[in-house]
Amino acid sequence: MLVTAPHSASAAPARQRYRVAIIGGGPAGCACALALAQLGVHEVIVIEAGDYTQFRIGESIPPEANRLFQALGIARDFFAEAHAPCHGSCSYWGSEKRGYNDALMNPLGHGWHLERTRFNQFLARQARLRGAEVLMHASLAASAPVPGGGHGLELALGAPGSLRQASIHADLVVDASGTRAVFARQRGSRKVDSLPLVCLAMRFAPPAGGGGHADTGLTHLEAVEHGWWYGAHLPDATLLLAFYGDAATVKAQRLQQVGHWLAWLAAAPNTAALARGMVPLAGGVQSFPAPSYCLDQLHGEGWLAIGDAASAYDPVTSQGIVKALANGMAAAGAVAGQSTLGDVAHTVTQRYGQYLAQRRQYYSWEQRWPDAPFWRQLHAGAEAPAAQVRASGPVPAR
Ligand SMILES: Cc1cc2nc3c(=O)[nH]c(=O)nc-3n(C[C@H](O)[C@H](O)[C@H](O)COP(=O)(O)OP(=O)(O)OC[C@H]3O[C@@H](n4cnc5c(N)ncnc54)[C@H](O)[C@@H]3O)c2cc1C
Repeated sequence: MLVTAPHSASAAPARQRYRVAIIGGGPAGCACALALAQLGVHEVIVIEAGDYTQFRIGESIPPEANRLFQALGIARDFFAEAHAPCHGSCSYWGSEKRGYNDALMNPLGHGWHLERTRFNQFLARQARLRGAEVLMHASLAASAPVPGGGHGLELALGAPGSLRQASIHADLVVDASGTRAVFARQRGSRKVDSLPLVCLAMRFAPPAGGGGHADTGLTHLEAVEHGWWYGAHLPDATLLLAFYGDAATVKAQRLQQVGHWLAWLAAAPNTAALARGMVPLAGGVQSFPAPSYCLDQLHGEGWLAIGDAASAYDPVTSQGIVKALANGMAAAGAVAGQSTLGDVAHTVTQRYGQYLAQRRQYYSWEQRWPDAPFWRQLHAGAEAPAAQVRASGPVPAR
């Protein structure tokens, strides 16, 4: 087992040959490594370009995550991490009336507001403790099938910003590289997009001496004419507020500028109330693409894409992390022979169809601005077949 210290430059891989190489050490990759260890599959390497110190967005997880933590054998350690409980959502969606979705009656308990960087560090640590090699500062540069029709794939790894390269052989590759889908795209896969959004986020801290808006333990949503606002109190007592809209509006309104962003916040009174008395953190407005897509080809000879590499969901569903964990577990099952790579790919495609239906339904509940370009685009398309929709995230209440 190779233990790479945080912040260090990339170490060399401990071996030259691996049973499984997982590209990307986010929730999908780490869950896959954990589940492989449970199934007795060893010689597993997780290749991670970063070092788990950068701020990551994506912090609300639904109660369903608790079941996945149990299945992965990490529930007790996760609870000890003391992230902030999320008891449901509070939304202004479809009318000015406040609605609630409460986790009180949920047999799986409450969800969580994560300190996301710490959560990713935790998953990588757990994967290492179960025997996986987690190689940080190592990025997949190139890949190719073994020449001459041999078994497996050759991978060239590079350390970002360094000329040093290493090459390894893997019997099987799991692409868990997030929206870069780096390995799958090297194999020719293409993303089939569905209305990407842009997220513009700012973080706030309580004023010195205390005060500010008290944590409600709820995820906050507020629909506005050109998109919607999201708010969550994080375990470190900061408040994250984010506006989601389409790229054209964001650019035309110059919402990346703090002054413009704050003016739009002021026009969303329920969200603005959360920030009252709070102090903006340095760093200004951070912009994140929030794509929605599925790959046209999710697996091939000796490889499979999972998590956001395979399909990405609109953050309104808050399903991205549980999808990543569940995909990681399913991929491990296929590697261990409990199913096939094709079975996992089929499930990913099927779930993507259900997600699209769920997304259309959520957006159809807001009809106050039918002529606004944002809502017109999201209302376009067929009505969601209700039977396919299973809601468990911070669902807009109605
Ligand atoms: C604005 C926004 C808000 C969101 N909010 C939520 C939310 O509230 N709740 C929720 O559940 N989901 C949310 N999501 C989605 C969620 O963050 C993702 O679905 C989830 O992180 C997917 O996990 P993953 O492991 O598949 O990918 P990632 O978490 O993206 O991990 C991929 C990893 O691969 C690494 N990598 C990339 N390229 C390479 C390479 N070439 N070589 C090696 N490593 C590489 C990256 O460094 C990264 O660590 C949000 C997403 C966005 C964009």
